[in-house]
Amino acid sequence: MRLYSTIEKKVVEIEPIKRGQISMYSCGPTVYFRMHIGNIRAFVNWDVLHRALMYLGYKVNRIMNLTDVGHMSSNDDFGNDFGEDKMDKQARVEGIKPIDIANKYIDTVLDDFRKLNILSPSGNQIPNDLTFTDVEKYGWSRATEYISEMISMIQRIEENGYTYETKQALYFDVSKLADYNIFTGQELSEKEVGVREEVSVDTEKKNPADFVLWMKKVGKYRDHAMNWPSPWGDGFPGWHIECSAMSTKILGEYFDIHTGGVDHIPVHHTNERAQNIGAFGHPSVKYWVHNEWLLSSMEEKISKSKGAQPLPEILKLGLDPMDIRYLFVSINYRTKITFSLDALKGARNSRLALTRRIESLGTNVGNVIPEYIEKFKRELENNLNMSGVFGLINELLKSQFPKEDVLATIYDFDRVLGLDLQKREEEGIDKEIEEILKQREIARLNKNFTESDRLRDLIYEKGYRIKDGTNGQSIEKI
Ligand SMILES: [Zn+2]
Repeated sequence: MRLYSTIEKKVVEIEPIKRGQISMYSCGPTVYFRMHIGNIRAFVNWDVLHRALMYLGYKVNRIMNLTDVGHMSSNDDFGNDFGEDKMDKQARVEGIKPIDIANKYIDTVLDDFRKLNILSPSGNQIPNDLTFTDVEKYGWSRATEYISEMISMIQRIEENGYTYETKQALYFDVSKLADYNIFTGQELSEKEVGVREEVSVDTEKKNPADFVLWMKKVGKYRDHAMNWPSPWGDGFPGWHIECSAMSTKILGEYFDIHTGGVDHIPVHHTNERAQNIGAFGHPSVKYWVHNEWLLSSMEEKISKSKGAQPLPEILKLGLDPMDIRYLFVSINYRTKITFSLDALKGARNSRLALTRRIESLGTNVGNVIPEYIEKFKRELENNLNMSGVFGLINELLKSQFPKEDVLATIYDFDRVLGLDLQKREEEGIDKEIEEILKQREIARLNKNFTESDRLRDLIYEKGYRIKDGTNGQSIEKI
């Protein structure tokens, strides 16, 4: 597998720490608002990577955090530690406790992920009845469950001499780390980090780029709703320590891949890396990979503050979630996408044209064409070359291979694309059967044959027989 490594600034061969296995951490959503279309791109892109790694035979150990601690970084590009606590604010707006805000928005994340065919970090289809109460079983880690790990990691960083304390907070002293700005190559002095507000809040802070490891419940934050005891007094962790603590606690001091959006590079990931070195004396992440921006039609970065829309709003325009997935799947993660209604409509038209061509192949599913499976794998391994993948689909549809084998091959590709290409509404197969078929597809991808057999039997009970081609599955009424 080859991917673009942000630090090395080139496409590199991924050499897993443990042969045949990939440990992967994905920065997840902040759960005090409904995620918007700009957030969604990352989750679709990294879902495709996850599925591709499984398809290529890797055992993937992946986790994704849920930021349910209200953090101060005001989601701007400057990493301002002294913004307003959004979780607290939203809790006041909605008149409920911060943790209930988090739970509520975790459920909306699950809902959006389900609609978009995004697998859970554990590599399973997200069950319809999964709610915030059981997300940990599916590979999500909630920040509030790891406060003690964050505290012990901060203690290690402190023991190693990378911190200083003020009346307001414990800071990471970035001047102690020579290659702090390895991602951007910026000089520290170039980094204008919300200077004005911070200086007015904490005059003891040494360098604007120094960031909070632990914020004390004093001064501006004396009424902060979520807080915990710590060696530095009652308070709450900085945002960045959350990801460093959870990733290394669960995946180990060294792990393979860390994903995120390019917006995380200059502050969040720069700081995560600094903390790992501060605690362990070495970096923890072997490959940092980032997806590019989703831009508005005005070529601006799409963000919450600029009114980016959440998924349900976009679907109201008469679109299918698969139109959105198609848009993000068909373009490489390293390419900027200009997002507009026209772009969505374009994606919808291409997707519908593709489904019609697939439907014209009939319903018999034959055997996959090994030569094309190999070609498909090569395209995935080539930095997830999606234009190559769609090129292969076109080739197949124009080819002289038996229709049923073409169908089986394209269905097999869809285990990675996740575009519901097997969906045949006019056949009258009800939603429930479709759902079970989808689950079985995922079980097979996970090589969970007990589960796959159970689902086959379940479908049999409901009056359908499953036929497995070399890889693809089809069903017929008994
Ligand atoms: Zn993160």
